[in-house]
Amino acid sequence: MSDFIIAIGHTASGNIGCGVIARLDESNCTRAIGSLVIAYLQEKGHTVNLLRVDESNNYNFEDCYVRANEANDIAKYSDVELYVEIHINAGGGTGPEVCVSGKSEIANQYAVKVSKGLANALNLTNRGVKTRNLIVLNRTVMPAILVECLFADSDDADIYNQEVIARAIVNGLVGVKSLGNNAWKLGWNRNDVGWWFCTDIKNKYYYTADNGWKEIEWDWYIFDSRGYALQDAWYYDESDKFWYYLDGSCKMVRGSTDKPLWVWIDDACYCFNEHGRMYCDCVTADGWKVDDSGIWVK
Ligand SMILES: [Zn+2]
Repeated sequence: MSDFIIAIGHTASGNIGCGVIARLDESNCTRAIGSLVIAYLQEKGHTVNLLRVDESNNYNFEDCYVRANEANDIAKYSDVELYVEIHINAGGGTGPEVCVSGKSEIANQYAVKVSKGLANALNLTNRGVKTRNLIVLNRTVMPAILVECLFADSDDADIYNQEVIARAIVNGLVGVKSLGNNAWKLGWNRNDVGWWFCTDIKNKYYYTADNGWKEIEWDWYIFDSRGYALQDAWYYDESDKFWYYLDGSCKMVRGSTDKPLWVWIDDACYCFNEHGRMYCDCVTADGWKVDDSGIWVK
């Protein structure tokens, strides 16, 4: 079972470094959600470390440095899978987003699941994963995510529910193994977080990263270590040194023998051959040039 660090965003309400106070009081919310996240993770057998700095006497963001240092101390004597810091957003938008430093593939995979889980559970727009330059993300040595659950200063505040939010975060953090029996059927299964594939209902066997690529009804899929199929995600295959892309239905995107496939992903256009391998630093089978990131050169 993996160890998590759950960090409470900001100092306590009213202190230097406290969270936004709008329709919601962020400092109070992060404390309430954090306690529940820890309780739910412990129920599932995970080891959790709480980081909570209530007071700060000197300057704004002092608490961020304190938490990052404390996290790095914990990592010296235990194997921390992920640092998770909880916040409530401000600025008048809507929906959850999860921030990462962009340096950790593990953090990215968790961030995708947590953001999607929150959006589905709260029925809000998923703002998704954002790469951000933030103190706690930059200074922690382990994979780290910062969760902005919803907005404190928009109508999001009306649907704030700490239990629903905490459950959604936990569902994004734990693997399919921890999911209750009623969630399982043979073949494809789905929850708020993603898809998994069960091969034996009695023993709860399912595909994971250890199984490598799996062909299911003529399409190819790949799973993460926790059992979820990669979705809207890049995958670098160490064995053949090629990049692949899994689409919104978790399928490997690929062309055919007579025609490669071009796909727009995050504002750039990429090309894939009949095996799903991304063309890179070459001329594609249909005669277009792509750079060393695989992006079409106009
Ligand atoms: Zn905050």
